[in-house]
Amino acid sequence: MKRYYGEFGGQFLPESAMFALSELEAGFLKFRKDKGFKKELSALLKNYVGRPTPLYFAKNLSQKYGHEIYLKREDLNHTGAHKINNALAQALLAKKMGKKKVIAETGAGQHGLATATAAALLGLECEIFMGEVDAQRQALNVYKIELLGARVHAITKGLRTLKEATTAAIGAWVSDLENLFYVVGSAVGPYPYPQMVTHFQSIIGKECRAQLKKCAKKPDIIIAAVGGGSNAAGIFYEFLKDERVRLIGVEAAGLGVDTPYHAATLTRGKTGIIHGMKTKVLQDEAGNILPVHSISAGLDYPGVGPLHAHLCASGRGEYVAVSDDECVRALKELCREEGIIPAVESAHALAHLKELCANLKKKSVIVVNLSGRGDKDMQTIRDYKKGTIYG
Ligand SMILES: *Cc1c(COP(=O)(O)O)cnc(C)c1O
Repeated sequence: MKRYYGEFGGQFLPESAMFALSELEAGFLKFRKDKGFKKELSALLKNYVGRPTPLYFAKNLSQKYGHEIYLKREDLNHTGAHKINNALAQALLAKKMGKKKVIAETGAGQHGLATATAAALLGLECEIFMGEVDAQRQALNVYKIELLGARVHAITKGLRTLKEATTAAIGAWVSDLENLFYVVGSAVGPYPYPQMVTHFQSIIGKECRAQLKKCAKKPDIIIAAVGGGSNAAGIFYEFLKDERVRLIGVEAAGLGVDTPYHAATLTRGKTGIIHGMKTKVLQDEAGNILPVHSISAGLDYPGVGPLHAHLCASGRGEYVAVSDDECVRALKELCREEGIIPAVESAHALAHLKELCANLKKKSVIVVNLSGRGDKDMQTIRDYKKGTIYG
């Protein structure tokens, strides 16, 4: 399997971690084709996660924007987002590889929750690394993770959010490579993580293609929010070779990409190294990683998966950025128009519809990946004031 997407990706970790990455690569390459593994995983995805998720024709939204808009309902998955597809698959892989304990980083807590859930189901020990600020903001998710039998480490370094949690998780992993399996939560990190996470999330696009075919539709445009890039990679992957399908990734513009308060890595980042991969990174002139800001903890990351850095550089993918204010507008719009409360992350993808649809020349079939539900965000939305600076 290729280690790079174009010039992005690779393995930038200390020599001591290389053995564990090779072991992981071997395990992944073996089990992804293993009949028993595939059967067990697809049974769990069906009966435990609730797949396939519906592809829902959003009639009211379609009428409003004058195009055919479909929502891929990842919000209906067990634990409320697409993250469980990957967390469950990696936890099952860990078990098959003989590991007894999984660890994971988490920002908003969704990946921590998904990993703790999978660990409980599969009888694995589980430790979750979370920035102290995020742990306070997402106290309910911390409680859920503990209720599921996992331990939460609140990280007190730096900005005390996702970047520091990821660095701490990598540190813990490197110190006990033999016993731990690191369940990475997005299409990021050193090879083979981005490729593996994309593989496990690609079920979203596969289902989507089959569901569109069933109603005799061909997609013109697919839109997804991009944090690290796993839900976007999951829905894009199946359509990469289908050049007539436009693939649009939406990043977090926070208070605006011309202010210091955003997380728009592909819009404003430069090539660099972060968390074991070569990709686009938000950094200053000296190469120091910059702080990021977004209403959405799930998009609040100064790097991005190498697949997206490559799709952006090659032009196959289009990447735009949407502000906190636009996100809140779109979240409320979906509530009113369709009776669906989306996650703030997913609302970034929805927010792009307004500008996109106003500029389309022909009537189009558009699919938005509705990556998660909004329950976790209700406090944030209720307290939202334009201009708030989120950590
Ligand atoms: C974590 C999360 C995201 C962002 O992560 P990606 O890896 O970019 O998909 C998007 N939506 C929801 C609901 C999330 O929980």
